[in-house]
Amino acid sequence: MKKIGAVFSVIAAVALIAFIAWDAVFNESASKSFFAMDTVISAQITGRNAEDILSETEKCVSELDSSLSRHDPDSEISLLNRNSGGMLSDRLGGYFRILLDVSKKSGGTFDFTLGAVSDLWSFGSSPKLPDEAELKKALSESGYEKASLSGNSLVIGGGVIDFGAVGKGIALDEIRDILEKNNVGEAVISVGGSVLLYGNKTAKVGIRSPFGDSGSSIATLSLSDVCISTSGSYERKFEENGKAYHHIINPETGYPVENGLVSVTVISDSGILSDALSTACFVLGKEKGIALAEEYGCDAVFIDENKNITVTEGIHGLVEVTDSSYSLVAYEK
Ligand code: AMP
Ligand code: MG
Repeated sequence: MKKIGAVFSVIAAVALIAFIAWDAVFNESASKSFFAMDTVISAQITGRNAEDILSETEKCVSELDSSLSRHDPDSEISLLNRNSGGMLSDRLGGYFRILLDVSKKSGGTFDFTLGAVSDLWSFGSSPKLPDEAELKKALSESGYEKASLSGNSLVIGGGVIDFGAVGKGIALDEIRDILEKNNVGEAVISVGGSVLLYGNKTAKVGIRSPFGDSGSSIATLSLSDVCISTSGSYERKFEENGKAYHHIINPETGYPVENGLVSVTVISDSGILSDALSTACFVLGKEKGIALAEEYGCDAVFIDENKNITVTEGIHGLVEVTDSSYSLVAYEK
């Protein structure tokens, strides 16, 4: 009897060790930060082979960076810009269909052909006020309505394609494909102002202070399994003669948007949509921006220069203001 008891004890011990080892393999957690797409990318992954998946994630983002950058002469986007269009891969064709749709639905306030206009502001290097005549010329040559897509054949029609407003969101979508393929349990990926919360676990995401004191957050959103993108006038800016200029352009004037907003956050299942809509809603302003976000079934947070935080109905109750100098305004139609 004693012998049988001892055998059972050994089996139980072996089973316990096997379980712990098995659990450790499945719940391996790893994190990494690296620089790409002109920003810092942080990835935290829980699941089997987390380290390998992190490496695959880094490779994916750097390849995407080389293919979408309009400043890299060898990129897919530069090739399209040089040839005023061309045949697209299915993947790129899908992205252009979304960009055209957001451009149309936003009444052209979102416009992915403003590359030459943005270049005149030199936000990526040494920002300056552009020459008035050059700005007018670049603006008249650009315009999403001059571009067309037939199947996967793109004609640009004058403007210069710029994925600056959507590259980070696209990165989230492509990273999510990697996580799904590898059966990852949970992950948090942040690519500059865009965050992917992957998995069912609810996490609190901070909304950055829009007044330059970087690092601090002024509110949190409790969410799971979504993409969250923020566009802010604080991100790329400069001052000349006491006036501030930032990188989000009003396509009607070629000048930075001035509508009282300082930051817009959009929440969507899709990374490219959250990123495109955060830029589009910033340009559209609060009322029209909320209508556009809701047309796409997305929620949004608008912060204005008077420190009012306006949120769409779908996320009432999920926002917690952590800086008491801000007021939460429940949006009513
Ligand atoms: P985001 O930070 O996602 O709002 O993207 C801002 C970037 O999008 C800018 O740095 C420009 O490259 C580009 N951009 C600026 N204005 C617009 C606009 N009205 N529509 C589309 N892209 C824009
Ligand atoms: Mg954007």
